[in-house]
Amino acid sequence: MSESVRLLIHGASGRMGQALLRLCGESAGCTVVGAVTRKVGQRVVDGAPYFASAELHGTPASDAIVDFSLPEAFDAVLALAVERRIAFVSGTTGLSDAQRTALDVAAGSIPVLWAANFSLGVAILNELVERAAAALPGWDCDIVESHHVHKKDAPSGTALALGRAAEQGGATPRYASLRAGDIVGEHTVQFTTVGERIELVHRATNRDIFARGALHAARLLAGRSPGKYALRDLL
Ligand code: NAD
Repeated sequence: MSESVRLLIHGASGRMGQALLRLCGESAGCTVVGAVTRKVGQRVVDGAPYFASAELHGTPASDAIVDFSLPEAFDAVLALAVERRIAFVSGTTGLSDAQRTALDVAAGSIPVLWAANFSLGVAILNELVERAAAALPGWDCDIVESHHVHKKDAPSGTALALGRAAEQGGATPRYASLRAGDIVGEHTVQFTTVGERIELVHRATNRDIFARGALHAARLLAGRSPGKYALRDLL
């Protein structure tokens, strides 16, 4: 790929979208050619042209789309990536089974990477959870997640991904969710038996970690062959 990857940011006015735009502005490796949000206020902000979701098909050509929006906005942006045959990176959580299947189908024609969590720490936590579950047969496994009050889906996508890792190791996880204040994201995976307990904890204190991971993935994914990629393939 060329030095600077052209990106379309979908969900641009959101908490994650704003972090992506700011970090992309600070990095030499990417250029935002369009920022898509539900409704447009100013047409250009900090050099990035804004588009409403109704104008999706009028957005400029890009090498990749980075999507951090909501499930109701997901189908249209995935379809656009397939139509334009460009890389698709998404961190949108709360997707339906049909939407996850659509991602698998899209991977037949474009490079696709969806991750419930783009932080390096959570990628490692997934591996630790699978190993702990395999080493502790018969122990209770509970996943407790806390997020800010605006988060819509529960359990979080990260909690469900950690749960899948625990299941791979043979555990049967249970979930608990807290919504409070401005918590960026905390996940505790607790293994308990009579007389002892192990807790594996990840705390995100800044959503830039997710935005950096997604931008890194977009830079690496642009121009690759079609397929379904995992974050650990690229880290
Ligand atoms: P947010 O509510 O702050 O922003 C949502 C964005 O989606 C806004 O820009 C909004 O305009 C846009 N949007 C909503 N409906 C739309 C529609 N119909 N068409 C077009 N755009 C629409 O949310 P957020 O905190 O930025 O999080 C966005 C998503 O990313 C959520 O699903 C969240 O769970 C997920 N998330 C993932 C990670 C990760 O690492 N994978 C990290 C943080 C958040």
